[in-house]
Amino acid sequence: MQIIQIALFILISVASISLFLVQAKRIYDNIMLGRKEKIHDDPIWGIQQMLLIAFGQKKMFKITSAALLHLVIYVSFLITQIELIEVFVDGFTGGHRSVYHFFENHRWVFFQHLYYLSINMIEILSVLAFFATIAFLWRRNILKVPRLSMSELNGWPKLDANLILVFELALIIFIFSMNIGDRALQLKGTSAHYPVLNGGGFIVSGLIAPAFQNLPEGLLIGLERFGWWGHILLVLVFLNYIPNSKHLHLMLAFPNTYFSRKEPKGEMINMPGVMNEVKAMFDPSFTPPEVEGEVKFGAKDATDLSWKSLLDAYACTECGRCTAVCPANQTGKLLSPRLIMMRTRDRIEDIGKGIREHGPEFSDNKSLLGDYITKEEILACTTCNACVEECPVTISPLNIILELRRSLVMEASDAPAEWNTMFTNIENNQAPWQFSPSDRMKWADDL
Ligand code: SF4
Ligand code: SF4
Repeated sequence: MQIIQIALFILISVASISLFLVQAKRIYDNIMLGRKEKIHDDPIWGIQQMLLIAFGQKKMFKITSAALLHLVIYVSFLITQIELIEVFVDGFTGGHRSVYHFFENHRWVFFQHLYYLSINMIEILSVLAFFATIAFLWRRNILKVPRLSMSELNGWPKLDANLILVFELALIIFIFSMNIGDRALQLKGTSAHYPVLNGGGFIVSGLIAPAFQNLPEGLLIGLERFGWWGHILLVLVFLNYIPNSKHLHLMLAFPNTYFSRKEPKGEMINMPGVMNEVKAMFDPSFTPPEVEGEVKFGAKDATDLSWKSLLDAYACTECGRCTAVCPANQTGKLLSPRLIMMRTRDRIEDIGKGIREHGPEFSDNKSLLGDYITKEEILACTTCNACVEECPVTISPLNIILELRRSLVMEASDAPAEWNTMFTNIENNQAPWQFSPSDRMKWADDL
């Protein structure tokens, strides 16, 4: 029986981890379909951003209640991974509480205390996370917080958000089944496989377990195994679910914040094609660098965007904080910066799938601009940067909007008529208005 469990565990773990690596490679390849761009070469600053924003959740605290609930779930998720190490060791060796018994056999008392501290923390945080998860489900489905119940989330995004919360509840239930079953078996003292830990029971399961200790041994072993297998299977399912979910931000928030842009918000990124031409006009000795392939202005499709914008799209948590502060959205325009990120991710997923199935020349005669994001949406943007300021993981929907607009105006010559008048005025009068440059100082004639 023991050997079957070990074989099953190894088989499931290796298959799940391999599948995850295949999915991770798929996402990496999709991001790398983007245009090359150097973001910054300051690793210290990048690490600071990552520690403050991704690890420290700094920007989450703009909304305190959501931040506290998120923090409990996030810390509990992180710390639960400690117990997972032991679950893996037990799975591969067929042991039980192998890590603790290793410390005990070597009389490493400090590490035994550390072990108890960790599991007690896991149990306390799991209880808090249970209530935080219920609160999140409540906010989404009963309170219907506006940014979390917009029609753009109908279908998979809403199901995805709820599913993950249900996963979280199930994981907590499994952890407690495992620990309560284990402690009840220790108290019963009839199974050699569940020896008493010399530190006693853990802080929460240790309180509940005595109520279970009179149950038949077989039932308690079933409870413990149900929790143990449920825990590990759910983690492995979750590992393979994440790459297809908005919860990919759990992993990608870290590289995304490392590669935050150093430029001040509002500073637009120059187009090298235009910049080189202007430089050559001002300085005849300037020789523009050789450009590989076709020079494009802006982005018509997702592959014309920088790899950083594609990483942004995969790191988006779909929290809607950007949309909630977007003045265009608030005044009833079609634009939602969250939807810009979701559509960009959908498009690069479709392109990546097409390339994998039909080769690098794949074309479905569609493009991000037009088929996934409309002209009306991108023209509604005021470029105010509120979405960028608000995003908890330093995503910039504005960069994508600007690139799409550049393509619309400079490649498709499809700017609105009012804009064309302004462009003509800038070209002829060096100002957006219809006045001759020679009249510019007329206002000061009488001064
Ligand atoms: S920059 Fe554009 S998309 Fe972002 S909040 Fe302002 S108007 Fe909305
Ligand atoms: S872009 Fe940022 S603020 Fe907007 S939904 Fe995604 S993670 Fe949230």
